[in-house]
Order: sequence, then C-alpha cells, then structure tokens
Amino acid sequence: MAIYNPASLKAEEFINHEEIEATLAYAEANKNNVELIDQILEKARPVKNGNGCTCAGLTHREASVLLACEIPEKIQRMYEIAEEIKLAFYGNRIVLFAPLYLSNYCVNGCVYCPYHAKNRHIPRKKLTQEEVRAEVIALQDMGHKRLAIEAGEDPKNNPIEYILDCIHTIYSVHHKNGDIRRVNVNIAATTVENYRKLKEAGIGTYILFQETYHKKSYEQLHPTGPKHDYDYHTEAMDRAMEGGIDDVGLGVLFGLEMYKYEFAGLLMHAEHLEAVHGVGPHTISVPRVKRADDIDPDMFDNGIDDETFTKIAACIRLAVPYTGMIISTRESEQVRQRMLQVGISQVSGASRTSVGGYTEEIRPTDTEQFDVSDQRTLDEVVRWLMESDHIPSFCTACYREGRTGDRFMALCKNGQILNCCHPNALMTLAEYLEDYASEETKQVGYAMIDRELNKIPKEKVRQIAAENIAAIRSSNRRDFRF
Ligand code: SAM
Repeated sequence: MAIYNPASLKAEEFINHEEIEATLAYAEANKNNVELIDQILEKARPVKNGNGCTCAGLTHREASVLLACEIPEKIQRMYEIAEEIKLAFYGNRIVLFAPLYLSNYCVNGCVYCPYHAKNRHIPRKKLTQEEVRAEVIALQDMGHKRLAIEAGEDPKNNPIEYILDCIHTIYSVHHKNGDIRRVNVNIAATTVENYRKLKEAGIGTYILFQETYHKKSYEQLHPTGPKHDYDYHTEAMDRAMEGGIDDVGLGVLFGLEMYKYEFAGLLMHAEHLEAVHGVGPHTISVPRVKRADDIDPDMFDNGIDDETFTKIAACIRLAVPYTGMIISTRESEQVRQRMLQVGISQVSGASRTSVGGYTEEIRPTDTEQFDVSDQRTLDEVVRWLMESDHIPSFCTACYREGRTGDRFMALCKNGQILNCCHPNALMTLAEYLEDYASEETKQVGYAMIDRELNKIPKEKVRQIAAENIAAIRSSNRRDFRF
C-alpha cells in the first residue's frame, strides 16, 4: 500500500487513495462539529498584513469538512468568506478569454468526450495555419487578447510541432488594433522536452484537467489510448514544471466521480505542487460534463446540482486563496452569475468549441466538443460583468513582465494589485471599448473606468493610467501596462 506523501513525485503517493478515504471519513464525522467548522472558517479568512492581505488557505482535510457540512448558515458564511478572499486578492476584476479548438483528431477513448477515437460520424478537422490565422482574426475582431488552445491527442495529426506552429501563427497575427497577447495551452500530458518547447514558444499557463482523481474510475473512463495511463497523466504537472513552465492549471471534470473524492484529490494536487515546486496552481477550472455529439451526461451517475457546484467553488476559494478560478461557457448565464459571487476570477466569453467555429456566421455544432450553454456575444458578456460591478479585464501584463509562478503570487500577497492589476485592467478595458464595443457597452464602460480610476491608491499611478486611457481614446496607441 502506498503511503501518503505530498512531496513525492509518484502519483499514488501524492494523490493517495487511502488518505482521500480517511479524509472523507473525517469530514463525514465532523460535518456537524460546529466548533471545528467555526475554527476552520476563521482560519480561512483574509488577514490584513501591512499594505496587503494574507490568507492561510486550508488543508484538504479542513476544506473537506466544510464541503461535507450542510448547516445553512455555515454554508452562507463560506460564500461570504469566498467573496471576501476573491475581493482581497483579485478585486472586482474578471479576466476574459476564449478557447480556440485546433484539431479534434484524437486517439484516446475518453468515454465522456465526443472526440473519442471510436466516434466515426463526427467530422474530423484540423486547422491549417491559414485557418488558424482566420480564426485568430475573428477572435481579435471580437476583442479577445487571451486564448486557451485546445486539441485532441494524436501524435500523427497533432504532433507538438503542429501545436508550436499554431502558437507562432497566433502570436504573429496583428489585425487592425488587435493582437493575442497570451496563449494558454490545454493539450494532453506530454514529455519534459515537449513542455520545454511550449515554454520556449511563449505560452502562458499549461492547463490539464485531471478528469478524475479516482484511479480505478480513471482507467475505466479512459479505456484506450495513451491517456489510459493514470500515473503519466497525474504526474504531468511535475514534468511541465521541470520543463520550465511556471504556471499550471488544474481541473476536475465534475460529474464523472463522487465530488467529495474529486475535491479532496484536487486540493492534494495543489498541496503537492506547493510542496515540490514552492508554488500552487496558477488556475483551477471547474468544468461539469455536458451533452455533446454522442455523449449524454446522464450516462454518468455523479452529476451535481447547481447548489453543490457553488459550494465546491467557494470551498476551493477558501482552500487555495491565491489561485485564479475559471468558469467556462459550459455553464449558463445564471450559474455563472452565482459563481462570480463565490470566488471565480476568470470567465470565457463568446466561445465556440468546434474546430473552425469562429469563422462561421452561425455557431456550428457538428464538431463541437460540448454544448455551449452561455451563447452571448463578448459585448454582452462584457456589459453583463460591468452591470454587476465587475471590471472585465483583458490584461496579460503579469506573464509578459515575467511575473509568473511565485512572483505572481507575491504580487497578489503584497497588496500591489490595486497599483498594478487594477490600472492594467482599466487600460485594457478602454482598448476593448474603443475598438470593439457597442455604443451602449461603451457608455457603461467609460462610466465604470471613471469610478474605478479613483480606487488606485498611488497618485502617480492613477495619473499615468488616466493619461494612457486618454491616449487610447484619442489615438491608436495600445498595449500600455504596469
Ligand atoms: N485532449 C486534451 C487532454 O487529453 O487533456 C485536452 C483538451 S480537451 C479539448 C479539454 C477538456 O474538455 C477535457 O480535459 C475534458 O475535461 C473536457 N471535456 C471533454 N468532454 C467533455 C464534455 N462532454 N463536457 C464537458 N467537458 C468535456
């Protein structure tokens, strides 16, 4: 039997089944232990520290007790603290991005994904570099600056060289005032050498969803193909970091396994990254299984309702306070609205999850990876965010200024966000308003910018930000950043 060790590099030791089972038993035994729950909630709260704030975070055991707790007022408290933490570290900014599907060729047999190799009726498509360029122009014309590229796993059709070519193409397109300034990558687990190549190509975050932390289920859900290898998949983030990638993004595909098991596994993975590499996950995504071509989410027994989903997000925010938390267009406007109040810091907008989808007039569904619930335009999403007092941010400054890994986390902790991220968000919002927004959105946006500029503590920074915004409005000067 493997012994639990967060600092081990072996999957079965840092995601240890026995430790997860013991955690779930501990959580169940303490789910009504009000004294303990109050202590854990108190520990999770942000504490003022000089100019900034710090948060202790929670262990997977502590957070699992909160997740198991069903006492309504304690759950309400979790939501309040989650929002408090999000505001302390990320303010009211929400980062926007879009996925870009490069290829749906895939040799794996993932039973929840329509790209599985045995699906013979889904059209297979792989973008040429010319088509990548056209997709990027369409994305730039919407106003996007940050993409997450997605591809199936297929060493023949989508080798690493193809992915690298696509990244180079994406960064090379500058249409009108547009450019893509950060490419995050969501491709299958690979070698240290390939991660190094991705790093050299200038990627932002490397994202890989674990799908499930339950090894036995994992093997059943991935019956064929290279992804069947649980250890290789689970240890991918360590190889990515060995290859020089500082920012990695975790995620579980909720609905496949029991959520309490997944939650404990996810937090143990975050603790492992902290223990080995000294920095936790840059982001955590919370996707739920959705309907797709030959996939019916009801095939899986572990679907979770919206209330449980919200509670999971809040508990992640309490446990891993500095992480960026992402919600995609798999979720409806209503669910996304609720999730914004419990710690989400990034959302995708106007997504098309089909290969070549952005250049089509009407959203194509034939090669879609999953059904998109939130089908609003980017302009609508931007306005919606502002109407609930969130600043839509197209900022990519940190990674371009080398503030990645622990350097990004330090910025978060030392209170410099209001002097740095806040003005950057406002300047990129001004770019969006000037170049892409509808008249109505523009009005709401400039009113927000005027209000929000006043929140910048340093007078000099406030003045420079205001001057830069004036320059954006009166000229074609773009890409200002602190
Ligand atoms: N192929 C890559 C890999 O093996 O990790 C990742 C790219 S895949 C396009 C992105 C993610 O979509 C998967 O990791 C999975 O979690 C998610 N996904 C697959 N099928 C889905 C479905 N039916 N509903 C929602 N999300 C799904």
